[in-house]
Amino acid sequence: MSKEKPGTVIVTGGGRGIGAEVVQLFAQAGHNVLFTYASKPHRAQEVVDRCAPFGVKVVAVQADVRDPMLATAVVEQAQRLSAVIGLVNNAGITSRIGSFLDVDIETMRDVLDVNVLGTMVMCQAVVRDWVARGASGSIVNVSSIAATLGSPGEYIHYAGSKAAVEGFTIGLAKEFADRGIRANVVSPGTTDTEIHALSGEPGRAERVAPKIPMRRAGDPREIAEAIAWMLSD
Ligand code: NAP
Repeated sequence: MSKEKPGTVIVTGGGRGIGAEVVQLFAQAGHNVLFTYASKPHRAQEVVDRCAPFGVKVVAVQADVRDPMLATAVVEQAQRLSAVIGLVNNAGITSRIGSFLDVDIETMRDVLDVNVLGTMVMCQAVVRDWVARGASGSIVNVSSIAATLGSPGEYIHYAGSKAAVEGFTIGLAKEFADRGIRANVVSPGTTDTEIHALSGEPGRAERVAPKIPMRRAGDPREIAEAIAWMLSD
């Protein structure tokens, strides 16, 4: 993001992993940041503390991305820090690694709710706000290489949710391009975060590394840098 035009960036799921690195990069670049988390306030506080030396406002808010009322409240709270110039929809979940035949409907619904509806609801809240103010802005939705590879035997419902994010983002970009609102996707490959332990396989990043062209998993900082660049002017 350009240093010349500071503003507020909203990041969902900024308490750890890729999102935490995104928060830190924007704060370091001189932007205020409002980030959300789901259930780990101590992790969110660690991110806030790490950003203290940068001299900007960094605020952590517990807000489930699936709740449309909270999405609107998050945007309003962010606008109070300074003009919102960007949104990064990073919050996302997989589910237990395994065969699709073993995935129950609640799990599928949960993954779709967080990854797809959560992203749509946050985009709608921020774009409504920008359009009402006649403001421009930039959105990055975090997808996954799973959208292209399909993740067979691991979580194909997750892959489907990320493919939905990509299709949705193409439409969002086209619908609002003439108002100066940009929307893009960053699709990380396997990245070394806690998401794999939450999927039941803490060592997944090392297991899949030999299949990755660079023979290693991504570092969350590398993904954050791509997101920050994509959000920038
Ligand atoms: P992570 O380490 O598990 O962190 C996920 C973050 O999202 C946490 O801050 C979590 O909050 C938050 N979150 C989860 N559900 C939420 C909800 N309902 N409402 C609000 N926040 C919620 O994940 P990550 O690996 O950094 O992944 C970040 C994004 O990259 C996800 O969209 C993921 O699908 C995508 N991605 C990751 C990889 C990878 O290999 N790591 C690869 C491709 C794509 P709490 O801390 O409070 O739980």
